[in-house]
Amino acid sequence: MTDPPDGEPEGPSSSQWTTLLTSQQDSPPPSEFRRITRTVNPCTLAPWGKKVQTIADESTSRQLDTGWGVRIAVSSSARNGVVGMGGVIEIHKSARSNPRNEILSFSSTLGRREEQNPYSGELAAMANALNTLPKLRFRRIVLITRNKAAVLTLRKPRQQSGQEHISRIYRSRRALKRDGNTITILWLPSSEETELMKLAKEKAKAATRQGTTPQTQLPRMRSTTLNIARAKHGTTRGLPENVGKYSQRIDTALPGKHTRQLCDRLSWKEASVLAQLRTGMARLNIYLHRIKATSADQCECEQARETVDHFLLRCSRWTVYRTEMLQCTDTGRGNISFYLGGKTSTNDENWALNMNAVRATIRFAIATCR
Ligand SMILES: [Zn+2]
Repeated sequence: MTDPPDGEPEGPSSSQWTTLLTSQQDSPPPSEFRRITRTVNPCTLAPWGKKVQTIADESTSRQLDTGWGVRIAVSSSARNGVVGMGGVIEIHKSARSNPRNEILSFSSTLGRREEQNPYSGELAAMANALNTLPKLRFRRIVLITRNKAAVLTLRKPRQQSGQEHISRIYRSRRALKRDGNTITILWLPSSEETELMKLAKEKAKAATRQGTTPQTQLPRMRSTTLNIARAKHGTTRGLPENVGKYSQRIDTALPGKHTRQLCDRLSWKEASVLAQLRTGMARLNIYLHRIKATSADQCECEQARETVDHFLLRCSRWTVYRTEMLQCTDTGRGNISFYLGGKTSTNDENWALNMNAVRATIRFAIATCR
């Protein structure tokens, strides 16, 4: 898979890494600091650079009320065997020329549940919304979604499903930027409600009413197809290439409802750390070496390559930090999925997310400053 071309350099220079590691050791940023993504903890942006300005915390509704030129809410719906998307676009008109804001909306049935999921629906809705905007100049465009996984994906668009939608989003964003517009993508937590989001949800639901059939042929979401196939046959067949083998191993339900619930229960910083560990894109030598930021993938303990498994479960350098993680379980100590909140195909029906273990793992990762 290719990174959406964005005119920004590939991996980090060594000085960027220094900044990154230093800032990681600082105390957590104050909430004001977290609100503006431009200045957010750089470890959540590097090494991919600022792809899309995204904000994801409880201050979303305040951001929505001031200084916007265009407001967009997108939503998806999965029911009656299909996945649909919808959205509402509100374009601010200056009071003198036209007293009423212009409202546009869209609604579309994307595909069968076997081929699409709410996450892909959300990305498709974003792409569609940005694509249908009229010619705009020097506007501040604010887009809200309830899907935190989609926001995370736009921050780090590598190795995730939904690449076609993501590419479309970036193409629209480049065109809008050329005309002097800015785009901010906001995550709206379920604790906050806005009129615009209500309308968007209605539009999405209209696309999944009983008896609806897909209107557009979209690329199948491979992970969804795979998960459903696996659930049907109870098999553990091999994964197709480029599906993100590492993430699939951690969690067969990725990305989807379960991942979203997991994300919603974590702070932004916690979710970022977890996302890095789950995707294998943490600042560990195995990954740093792959992007040519370090000369070797060996761990400093010299016992093994510094993989996520090694770092979390085995490396002797971090034994003292691991106490809390070990206390979370007697039987799951070698099980990386357990610690990363994942559901593996070997888990039985009674599988339950152990949030304490996930939090202990995140605290471990932060405490090691690795
Ligand atoms: Zn080690």
